[in-house]
Amino acid sequence: MKKKTKNLIVGNWKMNPETVSEAKKTAGAIKRGLLNIKKTEVVICSPFVYLDALKSFSSKKTILGTQDIFQENSGSFTGQISPNQARQFNVSYSIIGHSEKRKLGDTDEIVNKKVINVLNSGLKVIICIGEEKRDHSGEYLSFIKKQIFLALKDVSKKDIENIVIAYEPIWAIGAKEPMGTSEIHEMSIFIRKILREIYGMLGDDIRILYGGSVFLENAKSIMVDGFVHGLLIGRESLNAKNFVEMIKDIDKI
Ligand code: PEP
Repeated sequence: MKKKTKNLIVGNWKMNPETVSEAKKTAGAIKRGLLNIKKTEVVICSPFVYLDALKSFSSKKTILGTQDIFQENSGSFTGQISPNQARQFNVSYSIIGHSEKRKLGDTDEIVNKKVINVLNSGLKVIICIGEEKRDHSGEYLSFIKKQIFLALKDVSKKDIENIVIAYEPIWAIGAKEPMGTSEIHEMSIFIRKILREIYGMLGDDIRILYGGSVFLENAKSIMVDGFVHGLLIGRESLNAKNFVEMIKDIDKI
């Protein structure tokens, strides 16, 4: 595996916390705690409603992101948010295709349109992929391959440095235990092969993250033994103390 850029730790806050003051408090504690990190990039994907209050979170080390973005940049689309609107709040990344959004109706085609819109707007995209369940015949592998091919349809090589793939087996999200590190390693090799199939050796420049029940206790071993460039973290990203400690640990790798 080629290591080009910094490791990337992404916090997905989902529909949390409940108030803007809690959001500011958590983001503030994370930013202060990470002033001395050197080798890790940290992104917090907050609900849209807190982006304005969190604008100052963005720095060289800590970055703001969104949990989704609409596939169009203008027009009559009630309730939607465009990349250009989000960018005003120092947002640099957008998660697209999270399994919880796919469950609410985001098809592979919509995911692809959103990916293209995010990239065309100058933001970086974190594309979530992952199977719902595993089977002995290995059908989940063709499912993953198809998800990657469809998400990256018409995405050209020039955008490679702005793409991150987050592998999140759905059964490990919000669970007690993450996937085993040897299986994570296997999946990172498999995903890397697919990215090479699409982009040739340039595919090696795309960072691959793991997500699903990552906590302070298991984060570092997932990174090291799973051979991934980073993590996508739900619950533990709302616990500023653990999140900071985890990242400081990872920064030493
Ligand atoms: C997620 O929602 O993407 C996620 C990985 O959640 P958790 O870390 O809580 O399992």
